[in-house]
Amino acid sequence: MKEEILQNIAVIQERINNACKENGRNLNEVKLLLATKTVPEERIKIALRAGQTLIAENKVQELKEKHEALKEVQHTNHFIGHLQTNKIKDLLKYDVSCIQSLDRLDLAEKLHQRLQFENKTIEVLIQINTSFEESKFGVNPNDAIELVKQVAQLETLKIKGLMTIGLFSAETEKVRKCFRLLKNIQEQIIVLKIPNVDMQELSMGMSGDLETAIAEGATIVRVGTAIFGQRSTSDGYYWNEKIDI
Ligand SMILES: *Cc1c(COP(=O)(O)O)cnc(C)c1O
Repeated sequence: MKEEILQNIAVIQERINNACKENGRNLNEVKLLLATKTVPEERIKIALRAGQTLIAENKVQELKEKHEALKEVQHTNHFIGHLQTNKIKDLLKYDVSCIQSLDRLDLAEKLHQRLQFENKTIEVLIQINTSFEESKFGVNPNDAIELVKQVAQLETLKIKGLMTIGLFSAETEKVRKCFRLLKNIQEQIIVLKIPNVDMQELSMGMSGDLETAIAEGATIVRVGTAIFGQRSTSDGYYWNEKIDI
């Protein structure tokens, strides 16, 4: 089990290296984030002990369950799942440094209220639904800039960039379109020079499409399956609002 994870990480790093080389990207511009949903603590610890530092959960419940066990190995936690407002208070207990899935104003406002109360700040990425699929979370691309402007006014939320999940498709050019759109929105926002908005990070690309994402400007690629193996829980459980519990 250990050898397999280490081998998988090496393969991913090689893929990232090659994609950077081919696209004239600097290797230190692209961070690897481990998507750890459904992965038991022991397996996550193997990756952390091998030098990985950035992990992310999709559910507050899983974050909570693994928190104690993972404490002993230094790491940074991001959150990449659909966040319900009634889970905010809980989420803030577990050292999450960045919420990558901020996609609506009511969530931003409730987060802000709670952070003010706790006298804290948190980094956020705005999640954009670049594939326009109904089943996916994220703000509609046409409403994204307005959302950024509104969130920028909430001073406990430090916007660091944008996040998207690309279309699931074997057709690279269709996937690329999603990533290009995210980059395009980033560029439009940069020009606006909105106070309290940093647009450094583009979190895009997963196990199947990280090369395309790096070609289009990703600074964070989020990899699960290609490191930890196939998940037994369907991704619909994590992604589809209609069956969210
Ligand atoms: C699960 C997940 C990933 C990783 O997906 P893989 O295909 O397993 O690499 C990336 N981003 C988000 C938001 C996820 O939920």
